[in-house]
Amino acid sequence: MKLFLGGVRGGSPIADPAYARYGGDTSSFLIEGEAGERLIIDAGTGLRLVYDRLKAQDSALRSVLMLFSHFHLDHVSGLPAFPPLYDEEWTVELAARVFDDLSVEDIAYSFVHPPIWPLPLSEMKAGKIFRILDAESMEQAGEFGGLRIRWCPVHHPGGSTAFRIEEPATGGSLVIATDIEWGESSDEEKALFERFCGTPTGTDLLVFDGKCGPDDYEPYRGWGHSTWLEGIEIAQRCDVKKLLITHHGTDMNDEACDVRDAQIREAWGEARLAKQGEVIEIPSSPEQQI
Ligand SMILES: [Zn+2]
Ligand SMILES: [Zn+2]
Repeated sequence: MKLFLGGVRGGSPIADPAYARYGGDTSSFLIEGEAGERLIIDAGTGLRLVYDRLKAQDSALRSVLMLFSHFHLDHVSGLPAFPPLYDEEWTVELAARVFDDLSVEDIAYSFVHPPIWPLPLSEMKAGKIFRILDAESMEQAGEFGGLRIRWCPVHHPGGSTAFRIEEPATGGSLVIATDIEWGESSDEEKALFERFCGTPTGTDLLVFDGKCGPDDYEPYRGWGHSTWLEGIEIAQRCDVKKLLITHHGTDMNDEACDVRDAQIREAWGEARLAKQGEVIEIPSSPEQQI
């Protein structure tokens, strides 16, 4: 399978030349299975690039599954303008855990609605399917074509969800944990997440929230984010092969990202900072350096 990084920014999107190389769009990831499965995780403004890629790859594609880690704005703000929602030939399946007693259906209908957005979701022509994910799915994977999907609740204000995608046909596996605060996680939450990353084996790739550096976390304690060093320690403990750090803060322009990227690589040769627009093969091919 392949992972396309549509957006790796947290907070708000930025259109500024000083942010062009790492990208200014907020979280959206596309997973492409070998058998043609197309799975989106989160619908930040990076969803625009995800759609461009879907369209360019397969003009006959008319259905997509979208998983939401949680519903903070930087993870949903691309949804109202997602072109397939306006097209009667498309079916869009939206799936998430329940947050604050609200299902993904409740949230999508209230958010994609006046006065926030001119056209209500109910009047958009696509077929819509809504699915509630159980509180956790550590043991029993959901199936989507040839992909297996598991999820795990993680510590974040209001809650968030990490997803593990496995492709038995290729042996590829990855975990995406965009918003997680390790420093405020309980021992139980930590054990749950590490078991998730490491069972049955450590994944080929972990995409992990490293909004903070190890020296600048304290002012952000309680904001819901981790440090890149915590990401490295988790990856190493769980036998994960490669690590990509995501959810870059809006204070991190390309120059600052380059400095952080060098620090991360020095700390562990299998880790680096994620860049918007990248395509990563999983498991990695011998030629691909991540
Ligand atoms: Zn976020
Ligand atoms: Zn969040």
